[in-house]
Parts: sequence; structure tokens; C-alpha cells
Amino acid sequence: MSARILNGNAIRDQIYAELEHQISSLGAAGIRPGLAAVLVGDNPASKLYVNSKIAACRKLGLESFFITPPAAISTEELLRIIKELNERGDVDGILVQMPLPPQIDSKKILEAVDPSKDVDGFHPVNVGKLVAGRPSLVACTPAGVMEILRRSEIPVEGANAVVVGRSDIVGKPMALLLLHANATVTICHSKTRDLPATVRRADIVVAAIGRPAMVTPDFIQPGAAVIDVGQNVVTSAAAAENIFRNFPEKLESFRAKGSVLVGDCHPDVVQTAGAFTPVPGGVGPLTIAMLMSNTVRAARLRRGAAATATGVPVHETASASRGAHAVPSGTQAAKS
Ligand code: NDP
Repeated sequence: MSARILNGNAIRDQIYAELEHQISSLGAAGIRPGLAAVLVGDNPASKLYVNSKIAACRKLGLESFFITPPAAISTEELLRIIKELNERGDVDGILVQMPLPPQIDSKKILEAVDPSKDVDGFHPVNVGKLVAGRPSLVACTPAGVMEILRRSEIPVEGANAVVVGRSDIVGKPMALLLLHANATVTICHSKTRDLPATVRRADIVVAAIGRPAMVTPDFIQPGAAVIDVGQNVVTSAAAAENIFRNFPEKLESFRAKGSVLVGDCHPDVVQTAGAFTPVPGGVGPLTIAMLMSNTVRAARLRRGAAATATGVPVHETASASRGAHAVPSGTQAAKS
């Protein structure tokens, strides 16, 4: 059996099409949602990420502001920049690209972002709202995973879901979103005993570990939905040969480029799973799509009356109404 491949690029395009409609309604009311991206220093990987976020803004017609303080900036100076962005009426979303240089107090910076502009969903106020099941701006990658599950019609309610990884940006919010969608959730981490046996109980597996190809087919219950969040660059020929022995085209590409992107799941999982997200082209495209969606939502919420005048209720951004940002419908909070 070979798993159904869950195409993240196609799902992203659906979300963009919905957002375009929202953005043009806002435009008719004189509102152009704006995202400010703060990139400290010149880390090439961070630059690449921020550039792709800015490109997505341009594609959708959102306003974008690119702020690039030098690597030597102090926490106080960076706090001043955040304060200015908090006060600007044309900035609806603020993202501070991580990691920040070591002299910066990252927690202080993230907590300085106005929660209503916190489109990454990292502020403790938004995390608290997520815990309490109240509508909030939710971390983009887990929100994107929920979109993949929902739009691929993978039943979550009542399912056994296992999240491997407990980071603040992926594992924890992921587990909460699944819980609010009425899954029975287990969170695994580096101290979990007998990880394969625990993961094998899952109808839905979300792997967010940061270890290439760690989840092998023997971890997977036949037919389970496997969502691979991992993005690991492998440069060792021996590792690439081992991981992609059944994928000659991947090996060819590795030999040509000297590196290959590998998820946290072994690609052979495709033979056991019922549904599987590829890497690349699975979860990755959704992270940026949800950032765009959060920015549009933040604009609607912040600009209240004018946004409502577009005729689309504030809660009804492309996917918020269906659970990516707010707690999914049918859950405790949605009912209250
Ligand atoms: P972190 O390093 O912050 O967290 C990794 C988690 O995995 C930790 O909770 C850790 O456990 C757990 N872990 C590590 N080793 C093991 C092990 N051997 N067995 C079980 N659990 C283990 O990573 P992130 O959450 O930030 O990212 C995870 C992955 O997702 C990375 O590959 C990253 O690149 C990718 N990512 C992809 C995104 C996308 O857009 N597709 C966005 C964000 C991340 P413990 O807490 O005990 O240390």
C-alpha cells in the first residue's frame, strides 16, 4: 500500500485564493493589511525565510515592511523598533525572525510585540488564549497542519493523535489544537520511553523533532495519517544513500546539489501510512500561508469598524472560520 500524498502546495493555493477575496474586500474599504518583518543581522537562512514571507505578501497584495537592524543591535534598541511598529496604524502584523543574536533577550523582544499584531502567535497572551480555547493568533506551522488535516478530510475528532516534539512553536500549540479538535492527544519528547510503541498507537502522527528520517515505518500503524513537520538539510552522502535507497530521483538530486532536504519521517513511511505529507511540499508551504492568513485576520480585528464594512464578518478570514486560527468548530470554546 502507498499512502495518499497530502499536497501542501495545492492546499496553500486554495488558502491564497480565499485570502485574495478577503484582501480585495478590505481594499474596497481602503484597508491594505501590512506585515512588518524584522530581520536582525545577515544570517543567510533567516534572510531566505524572510524573503519568502515578503514575496508572499507581494503576491497577495499585502503591504510589507522589511526592517533590517545590524547584528550588533542591543535589546533596548530593538525594543524601540518594536514599540514604533506597535504604534504604527499601517502595520497589522509584526514578525521578528528567530534566532536573534546572543546579546539580545529574545523573550523580552517577543513579549514586547503587541499581542494583536503577533502574527507568529508566540506572545504569552496568545499562547494563553490558545490554552483556554479562546480565539487568538495561533502559531503558523501548527495552524497549517490543522488546515492540511481539515482540507484533506482526515477525521480528528476521537482520533488518537501523537505529537512528537514539545517546542513552544510547534509541538505544544500543535497538541493543543488537536485537543481542541477533540483528538486524544499524546505528546512525546526526548525522554519518552519506547517511542516507537507510543507512536504506533496513533491514527494521526505529527513529527516535529528536527532529526532526519527518525520516524521509520515500524513506528507507524498501517493506514495512519503522518504529518512530517521536519525540515533537515542532509549533506552526508552515506546518510542520503541510506535514507533514499528506494528513491533514486532523490539520490540523483543529492548527487547534483550535495545536499537534500529530509523530514523527520523516513520516506519509506509512505508504504505504511494511509496519508503522508512530503518534504518538501507538505507542511512547509502552509507555514507562510498561515502567516498571511494571520496578517489578514489581525487587520480585520484591529481595524474593526472599517473592516466589518467590507461585509465579511471579522472572524471569517480565509480559514479562521474553519478553525486554523480560532479553536476549531465543534469544540468547547466554539460552543461557548
Ligand atoms: P526543537 O528543537 O525546538 O524541538 C524538538 C523537539 O523534539 C523537542 O521537544 C525534543 O524533545 C524532541 N526530540 C528531540 N530528539 C528526540 C528524540 N530522539 N525522541 C523524541 N523526541 C525528540 O524543534 P522545533 O519544534 O522548532 O522544530 C522541529 C522540526 O520542525 C525541525 O526539523 C524544524 O526545522 C521543523 N520546522 C519546520 C517548520 C515548517 O515550516 N515546516 C517550521 C518550524 C519548524 P525535548 O523537549 O525533550 O528536548
